[in-house]
Amino acid sequence: AEVTRMAPSPTGFIHLGNLYSALADERIAHRNGGVFYLRIEDTDEKRKVDGAVETIINVLRYFDIEFDEGAGFDDTDPRNAYGPYFQRQRVEIYHTYAKSLVERGLAYPCFCTEEELDKVRAKQEEDKVLTGYYGEYATCRNLSYEEVEANIKAGKPYVLRLRSQGSPDKEITFVDAIKGEIKLPENIHDIVLLKKDGIPTYHFAHAIDDHLMRTTTVVRGGEWLASAPIHYELFHLLGFKMPAYAHTAHLMKFDEETGGKRKLSKRKDPELSLDYYRKDGYHPYTMKVYLLTLLNSNFEEWHEKFPDKDINEFPFSVEKMNQSGALFDKDKLHNICKNELSKLSEEELYDFLYDWAKENEPENVEKWFGDREKMLQILRLYMGVGAKRRRKDLMYAKQIFELISYFFDGESAEEMDEFKLDEDMVSKILKSYLAKYDHNDDNSVWFNKLKEIADEHGFASDMKAYKANPENFKGNVSDIAEAVRIAVTGRANTPDLWTIVHIMGEEQMTERIKKHIK
Ligand code: GLU
Repeated sequence: AEVTRMAPSPTGFIHLGNLYSALADERIAHRNGGVFYLRIEDTDEKRKVDGAVETIINVLRYFDIEFDEGAGFDDTDPRNAYGPYFQRQRVEIYHTYAKSLVERGLAYPCFCTEEELDKVRAKQEEDKVLTGYYGEYATCRNLSYEEVEANIKAGKPYVLRLRSQGSPDKEITFVDAIKGEIKLPENIHDIVLLKKDGIPTYHFAHAIDDHLMRTTTVVRGGEWLASAPIHYELFHLLGFKMPAYAHTAHLMKFDEETGGKRKLSKRKDPELSLDYYRKDGYHPYTMKVYLLTLLNSNFEEWHEKFPDKDINEFPFSVEKMNQSGALFDKDKLHNICKNELSKLSEEELYDFLYDWAKENEPENVEKWFGDREKMLQILRLYMGVGAKRRRKDLMYAKQIFELISYFFDGESAEEMDEFKLDEDMVSKILKSYLAKYDHNDDNSVWFNKLKEIADEHGFASDMKAYKANPENFKGNVSDIAEAVRIAVTGRANTPDLWTIVHIMGEEQMTERIKKHIK
């Protein structure tokens, strides 16, 4: 069974890319009974934000992704077995490994000051050679025991560096589960293992943790691929077996300005933030389907073929993960929303909307949900019933309430779609409509009355007659229906008007119609 992890720095910001790789981790672990755990990489004190761990756990839980183990479980919980999972609480462990590297001559203290390092860098730039602490430039590499001892006694601050064994003209062959075989030059840099305050760097801490926490597969951002040679050397020198790696592609977006693709950006793209989807009320299931579509090129086909199968049963494969930059496409997401929401029952959708409203629009809860049966009828109207379930208008909570708001609030004049007919004609039509209206009429009797109104005012009641000689008429019965529709709902496009009028009730309908009668 596989063991995967999410290893965020607790900065409090989790974005779509994090959810994307967390979902991959979760699928890889759970496809055959493995473990997905949470480790907090909090070695950088400055970036730490309170409550970040809870945020991560809650956000992932909202999207139906659960950790089996790790930070967030209490000390006595067996799911904390390989902890602690906060790197700050593991410093002694890192020091043990650091000491053993020193004993084996594979790590050494470096006393260089920032200014000295700057000078080395300037010289390397001038000489047009690779910058960094390596080879002949690594002046502390060959200090004698006495020199080191004297420096330490004098209280000089130092970092601990790796004594790299790599050679500049050798390559490592590295198999990435997504990108395949990759050849990279060996690491030659004497990278920092422990900082001046004894806190480990990411490179050092994560290697030890991934080993001790028996990680089998690491899914992480593509920006880490360049560091793979460092990790390769570290695992090797520490005597650890390397996990499998999958370096994920960036989430990209089509850029209208340049006509090309670009990375989603925190600053420019609100849809990178997961809060965006929670606030607007995207159903977590639709997000999961969308992300799986992005993650695995064969998911969509599978999901279409087995629409009723639990998506957690999809045979997720690392090899099928997107290689070149997954394209985030909102229209695609919206299509998925429409499709997936249409599969819910009215009750399921009701419960979801209710929960969302309680969180996000508490002041409207009573108005929208005070009459349960009414809301269910509205949802049924928009979802279609039984075999007729082919209306696919519903995407996310906020959009749904915008779509159905006319049941609860009369539209203000600015919000209303415009009547196509002039005011006088609208007024006449609506007058006739009210005169003929009987709330007990069924749909076809009601529609026949619209036809009578058409005849009365010089509109065609018969479509064939209209099509043959449109010039003989002011319009046809659909113009009559449209005038009534806009007066009642404020919109030119809605589902079945008779049903709307019956959900709304005679009183509210009459009130709205009267507003447009002179
Ligand atoms: N702490 C690293 C980050 O947040 C994790 C990288 C990894 O998954 O190894 O970028």
